[in-house]
Amino acid sequence: MSEADVIVVGAGPAGASTAAHLATHGRHVLLLDKAHFPREKVCGDGLTPRAVRELDLLGVDHSTWQRNVGLRIYAHRPYPYLLRWPDLRDFPPVGCVRRRADFDQTLADHAVARGADFRPGVTVTGPLLDDHGRVVGVTTKDGRQFHAPVTVAADGNSARLALALGLQRRASRPLGVAVRAYYTSPRHDEDWLESWLELWDGQPGRSHLLPGYGWIFPAGDGTCNVGLGLESTSPAFGHTDYRALLRRWLATTPEEWGFRDACQVGPIGSAALPMGFHRPPEYRPGLVLVGDAAGLVSPFNGEGISYALESGRHAARHIAAALAAGVGTRPAERALEAYPAALRSAWGRHFRLGNLFLELIGRPEIMKLASHYLLPLPGVAQLVHRTLANLVDDPPSNVYDRIVHLLRSLVPSA
Ligand SMILES: Cc1cc2nc3c(=O)[nH]c(=O)nc-3n(C[C@H](O)[C@H](O)[C@H](O)COP(=O)(O)OP(=O)(O)OC[C@H]3O[C@@H](n4cnc5c(N)ncnc54)[C@H](O)[C@@H]3O)c2cc1C
Repeated sequence: MSEADVIVVGAGPAGASTAAHLATHGRHVLLLDKAHFPREKVCGDGLTPRAVRELDLLGVDHSTWQRNVGLRIYAHRPYPYLLRWPDLRDFPPVGCVRRRADFDQTLADHAVARGADFRPGVTVTGPLLDDHGRVVGVTTKDGRQFHAPVTVAADGNSARLALALGLQRRASRPLGVAVRAYYTSPRHDEDWLESWLELWDGQPGRSHLLPGYGWIFPAGDGTCNVGLGLESTSPAFGHTDYRALLRRWLATTPEEWGFRDACQVGPIGSAALPMGFHRPPEYRPGLVLVGDAAGLVSPFNGEGISYALESGRHAARHIAAALAAGVGTRPAERALEAYPAALRSAWGRHFRLGNLFLELIGRPEIMKLASHYLLPLPGVAQLVHRTLANLVDDPPSNVYDRIVHLLRSLVPSA
């Protein structure tokens, strides 16, 4: 006896997107989350044009949210690179910042408005398997069982469902750690995201350069979200006091931002960033992985929200096709098995390039060479900006797109 066509575990961006798209396909979706909403999620709250495009495809109204027009990057020199979001055919030229408590609530409400049955406060403990090892539902902490022909693991970096099936993360794929805090700031409503590409483990210029970056994302509500992320390619990874590093870096930011102890709001939070397809395959019989549960954070810039939303859209399309064919039939399995290939076709080469990029910037001499000599060359900062944010038209519509497509054609898919 099935309670739903699909059970989605986790109502973050990946789960809410999957549920909303499936409900729009006319499917009965049970959306379970262990938390009661609104709930905090440690994040930078930054939404690039990729994420805004997904919100538009979902039909989520973001018109009142804090806007940004691009990225202001500090790297080596005292004045920044001002890099507007590109004017493209496939993406809007605007980003947003929205606190996750509110962002995730909005998405969950949207899924409900589309017809999903959202049950907060339900902790899923593991998958239910049939005699052939196929996932046919989930068990919960309060002893209940829910059945459905397809289950979606959208449970974030904890990846409880995947781990219960023995789906370990690939150690060869990068993993990041990021910390963030909120500060009240007179510059809380600026319309640029700011990024500092040089993180030092001591005195700037006189200590070791760390592979990662610091961010300042004005949230428009009186506060800025500030934080930093480090990659696993760094020798310092795992041996760094990230909170102390954040305080040290903030102490070097200009006084007018107000990032001093007295202005801090709430505690510093930290969490992992699972990157570059780190838990393949993203489909096992009866179970589809989306978002962080599948390790879909971009190795280039630590962006995970847009990829979570997008993976939900792809997953919903494949699940809807399988349900239409009748789950258990060969055509239905083929539709589900095609989901990992769809993800790779969308970002496989981009993520592979990103993995290589992380290996390179993990070597301080290369990072130094890039920020001192390459970035200031005409057009290079713009090219890097578009490559890192994965903002290119397909097929290409300008010279930057063409170069990025060429670079991608040189590497295999992740
Ligand atoms: C410090 C930091 C800063 C970041 N900044 C940015 C940024 O600025 N922009 C960006 O795009 N990305 C950013 N990211 C990445 C981004 O936060 C994630 O990629 C994104 O949240 C992934 O969405 P998700 O839906 O897959 O998982 P999550 O958002 O983690 O949602 C998972 C949901 O599953 C629920 N859940 C978990 N286990 C269970 C269970 N057993 N039973 C029921 N429910 C369960 C949780 O309660 C949660 O609601 C950042 C990450 C970190 C750590």
